[in-house]
Amino acid sequence: MAKKLLIDLDRLRDNRPGESSDQLRPDGVLSEYPNKDGRKTIRELALFRYTCRRCEDAPCIAACPADALDKDDEGMIKRSTNLCIACKSCVVICPFGTMMSDFFEHHRTPENYFDLNDPDEILKFIDNNPEGAVQWVEMEEDPSKDIYQLNDRVLIKEKEWDSIKKLNQGE
Ligand code: SF4
Ligand code: SF4
Repeated sequence: MAKKLLIDLDRLRDNRPGESSDQLRPDGVLSEYPNKDGRKTIRELALFRYTCRRCEDAPCIAACPADALDKDDEGMIKRSTNLCIACKSCVVICPFGTMMSDFFEHHRTPENYFDLNDPDEILKFIDNNPEGAVQWVEMEEDPSKDIYQLNDRVLIKEKEWDSIKKLNQGE
């Protein structure tokens, strides 16, 4: 069985850097996701897929002064990294705390990003995250344990919102 990264979003939330801190969480990227819309981190992909409740009126979209947020065909929020000005209005207005406070930062440096296609970078990514938040495991998706497959190399542990669960399972 091929090993996968298991990222526990609850543990990341519990270990957030202080609000006034300049400390940024490390974030992982996969080379297939940087696209014309900019770099998509693993955390952003996971939170919008599994944590966001896909509000019908989407206050985050209404609050964005840069028209950087939109919904895709499945109703999943997507962010244009080219348009986003990192004002965090969407972070503040989201009633469910979907996004973490350091979610959109423009002052990230390459040291904050780890290429999850590179085995050495994977180990550094694990080491730079809070203990137990990211693990390198032989495991498959297991919804009974709140573990979902984001792609063939990444599993996400998150208490998925029920309606999203049905959407992701094609119900
Ligand atoms: S307000 Fe929050 S939960 Fe609602 S769609 Fe936006 S990010 Fe998702
Ligand atoms: S942080 Fe970016 S996506 Fe969020 S409201 Fe500001 S410009 Fe829009």
